[in-house]
This record gives sequence, structure tokens and C-alpha cells, in this order.
Amino acid sequence: MRRPLVAGNWKMNKTTGDAVALTSGLITELAGFTGADALLCPPFTALAAVGETLRSQGSAIALGAQDLFIQDSGAFTGMVAPGMLTDLGCTYVIVGHSERRGRFGTIEDWMTPEVLALFGDSDATVNAKAKKALAAGMTPIICFGETIGERKAGQTDTVCEAQVRAALAGIDNATIGQLVLAYEPVWAIGTGETCDAPEANRVCGLARSVVASVAGQAAADGIRIQYGGSVKPDNAAELLGQEHIDGALVGGASLKVDSFAAIVRAAR
Ligand code: PEP
Repeated sequence: MRRPLVAGNWKMNKTTGDAVALTSGLITELAGFTGADALLCPPFTALAAVGETLRSQGSAIALGAQDLFIQDSGAFTGMVAPGMLTDLGCTYVIVGHSERRGRFGTIEDWMTPEVLALFGDSDATVNAKAKKALAAGMTPIICFGETIGERKAGQTDTVCEAQVRAALAGIDNATIGQLVLAYEPVWAIGTGETCDAPEANRVCGLARSVVASVAGQAAADGIRIQYGGSVKPDNAAELLGQEHIDGALVGGASLKVDSFAAIVRAAR
């Protein structure tokens, strides 16, 4: 049995005070709930305060970061190293989110090209970040997913398979079984448009079969695969009830106590 993991990606939202208020609200709302793992990924600036709030209230909710850099230290202005995250109590880190990946193809296909092209993480960068996270003792949540242009061109499966294979390269089989993947179709992120549950399950199942071919059946049975893309309280139960969907990566709906707590509960 894989335990569901529902992660809130707060993106570039919440000052420290707002972050602490949201965290305290969630601690109260989810007190005593044991049906799924919950994870908060605030911006770097709020990690210390959110971590301290969770710790001081003895909460089981985990702390994660939204990204990390691939060096341990040095002259990298503005970057955050893996050890700086574990120092603050992070046990997870998102890598390869579509808002950080770069696709150096036709810009017309992209939902919001000015944002999606900004950071330019390649498959190789995502793989390096995943390894760095593991070396620092964190679990990477590795995002993959197709753009609307790729879906319309019938390339969903090839794009997703290639991203999953590249992300896992050089990681040992037992470790792969402990990882988290997040299927995030780019066209469903922040758009209100959700991938329908059977299709999301199909792609997550495809990713699981890729894991089986790369790392064996035990790894495929162990790895948790989340769905992300406009998950809301009213669609969470159907998505999270699918065979291959082991939780959710939630953006917009993770910014309010009621909606995020309802999604966590739907994952039981
Ligand atoms: C995300 O940021 O990973 C995400 C899925 O966002 P949203 O839930 O807002 O679509």
C-alpha cells in the first residue's frame, strides 16, 4: 500500500506572517487526521518560520522547498543549496516544476511562455537536482508533463516517458522506489482546466511502467506518483481515487486552509 502524499506548492505567495497564519490554520484543521501525508512547500523566505511553526506545535505535516541549486556552496548569487534546506528542516524538495523547465522549441505552444521559459531547467538539470536532493537526505518530488502543443501533437506519452527516464538516470533502483513523481500536464497548471481522472490515471500508469522498466517492479510498486494541475476540493476525490494516483501536488488551492485541508482529507 502506498501512502498518499498531498503537497501544497505556495509558489511566490505569502509573506512570513501570512505563511505562519496558513500553517497554524492547517495544523488545527488537520489535527488527528492520519489518512495521508501532508507537505507544505512555502517560498524560501518563509521556510524557517513555517518549519518553526510546525515543529513548535508538534505537527506531522512535512516541510519542503520549491527548488534547490545543484552546488553545495560557492559564488552563485541568489541560489539556495541543498544543505541550506535540510538545515531548515526540509525533507522534500520539488524539482523540474514546469514553471522552471525550459523547452527550447516553438514558443507559440506554451501556455505562458514568458514564465515557462524563464529558468530553463533541462532534463539533465532536473536529474542533477534530484540527485543533489537525495545526497542531502531529502526526497525529490520530480515533476513531468506535456505542454498543450505536445498533447495536441499526440506526443504526451513520448514526452512524459522521456522526462521520467531522464530524471531517474543514475539513481539506484531501491532509491527510485522511495521517490515521488508528479504528473503535471502544463496546460492544467493554474488554468482551472483539470486533466480528467481516467486520463491522468493512464499517464501516471505509463510513468509507473517506465519506472518498472528502468528500476524493476519493486521500485514501480513503491514510488508515489502524484497528479497536479488545478486540483480542487470538488475534483480531488475522483482524481485521488485512481489506481495509479498516490496524492496531489496542489498550487492555487493550497493557499487557503479550507481548500487544502479538504484535498488532504480526500486522499485518505
Ligand atoms: C502546481 O503549481 O504544481 C499546480 C498544480 O498548480 P495549480 O494547482 O494551481 O494548477
